Amino acid sequence: MQQVRPKKSLGQHFLKDLNVARQISESLILSSDNMPVLEIGPGMGVLTQFLLENKNISLTAIELDRESVIYLKQHYPQLHLIEGDFLKFNLDILYPQNQTFCVIGNYPYNISSQIFFKVLEYKDRIPCCSGMIQKEVAERLAAKPGNKAYGILSVLLQAYYDIEYLFTVNENVFDPPPKVKSAVVRFTRNNTKALDCDEVLFKQVVKTAFNQRRKQMRNSLQPLLGKANPVLEQPIFKLRPEQLSVKQFVELTNLVNQNILCQSSEYSTKKTKK
Ligand code: SAH
Repeated sequence: MQQVRPKKSLGQHFLKDLNVARQISESLILSSDNMPVLEIGPGMGVLTQFLLENKNISLTAIELDRESVIYLKQHYPQLHLIEGDFLKFNLDILYPQNQTFCVIGNYPYNISSQIFFKVLEYKDRIPCCSGMIQKEVAERLAAKPGNKAYGILSVLLQAYYDIEYLFTVNENVFDPPPKVKSAVVRFTRNNTKALDCDEVLFKQVVKTAFNQRRKQMRNSLQPLLGKANPVLEQPIFKLRPEQLSVKQFVELTNLVNQNILCQSSEYSTKKTKK
């Protein structure tokens, strides 16, 4: 049987090591029997075969590559497979009525951040998400305040998920080997139902602050607050974004919200709409 020809544009690096594949397939924490699980980018099914063996999992896989879809249909006729783009696919069709589900994959590294932004959109329905990504990205997601790797996705994800860096995977267990090392991570939903601040503004504050990560936040957040705004003199604004915990970003968001310039920024329109 012919193998799928790896395509760089789709981030295709096929995992060869069956032990690693098995370990990834066992990395989800399943919170109910027969848990719906969505595998993103099954490729030639190296993880899929183990996921299918698990009787506690009700598996669906979504794959963009036609050639992989044909291969999977031949090898795993029992697999519930969707041919499509995870980023564009409406998950409410697959999981209607606010059903919960888990997400897993040896992900396409070129779109891993976008995948996790989508996971965040469904955070109240995704209790657990795990899988393999580029090592540097894994380090960033799991990074704590004060660490150089701490950034936008670390804060946004850690607001709602506990992030664990599980283990590192060497490039030589892939075909073709990627240029970077890989790592397996797990996100488990924490107890935060909603942040204690305006969540739309929270996202905007985090993104604005990290877009100029070397600057003190009194400089980067000035456009939202106006140059002479006295709130900018408060100690928290003298910090750099990488120094702030999620809780401190919540406090900061509330300070910004109470002092925001009404006429400035796209945000004020969103705020009045609420
Ligand atoms: N899980 C397989 C393949 C990993 S490579 C393995 O471990 O060997 C990443 C896979 O994601 C490829 O099969 C690629 O075709 C698929 N993919 C890339 N972009 C995608 C997208 N937007 N939606 C769904 N699958 C995608």
